[in-house]
Amino acid sequence: MAAIIVQGKEVAQSIRAELANEVAELKKQGIVPGLTVVLVGDDPASQSYVRGKSKGCEEVGIASELILKDASITEEELLTIIQQLNENPNVNGILVQLPLPKHISETAVIEAIHPDKDVDGFHPISVGNMVLGNETFLPCTPHGIIELIKRTGTDMSGKHAVVIGRSNIVGKPVSLLLQQENATVTMCHSLTQNLEEFTKKADILVVATGRAHMIGKEHVKPGAVVIDVGVNRIETGKLVGDVKFDEVKEVASYITPVPGGVGPMTITMLLKNTVAAARKQANR
Ligand code: NDP
Repeated sequence: MAAIIVQGKEVAQSIRAELANEVAELKKQGIVPGLTVVLVGDDPASQSYVRGKSKGCEEVGIASELILKDASITEEELLTIIQQLNENPNVNGILVQLPLPKHISETAVIEAIHPDKDVDGFHPISVGNMVLGNETFLPCTPHGIIELIKRTGTDMSGKHAVVIGRSNIVGKPVSLLLQQENATVTMCHSLTQNLEEFTKKADILVVATGRAHMIGKEHVKPGAVVIDVGVNRIETGKLVGDVKFDEVKEVASYITPVPGGVGPMTITMLLKNTVAAARKQANR
């Protein structure tokens, strides 16, 4: 039987509707959640992500501000801007769009953001709290993936989850969050030998490699939940995932499409973190 397609767009829409109600309630108390996005340079993909974030803010009632800076900005100037945002009480969340030009240290920039405003969840303090299982801002893509799996009705407890990819923004954190949901987790990467041996045992398979169509039906256990994080532009100009959607959907029980799967959830989790930041900062 063909898999059920997990429509991330629809799930994201319903979470955004819940957030819009929450923001309306906060506004009655005089609290207006605010997100500032800093974009350095003119990378078209980054510009498109930033537009999506502004649109998402507008949809749920978050006040959003975009600070655009030329790629020639110095690290010191950028750190000064972040310091000013840290001190601005109207700014609840700060996001610096990555990647940054080579002459600016991403580590220095991430560490400059106050952990209370770190709605991307990349600050070492946020990461440390996530590892410890403390309440914190979870990184948006891994958090969105967990929400999507939950909404399929899948109980992750005791299941074997296999994650392909070990980046700091997807593979590592999603492995940890799956383990916190009581899954038994195997992490694979580019040096894993006999990848198929691992993926074929997965009840939940999360693929985040950035390699177009690398996972076919021969890699997938019948009935598995398959989450495709990859976003790859192929020669025809089309966006595709890391999974061969058409054939894998014939063996999986649930599968996310690309586009329209994980992507819409990422921005939604950013909005969720911003609302949580506003609430937390108001209660201080
Ligand atoms: P990275 O390039 O940072 O990491 C890719 C990971 O995949 C690495 O750990 C690498 O292993 C592993 N890998 C690469 N090739 C293979 C292979 N042949 N077999 C097994 N493992 C392999 O990418 P990201 O984690 O940042 O992103 C992954 C994908 O997800 C990209 O397509 C990206 O565009 C997309 N993405 C989508 C988001 C969304 O919102 N939809 C958000 C973030 C990312 P090794 O460590 O050994 O090099």
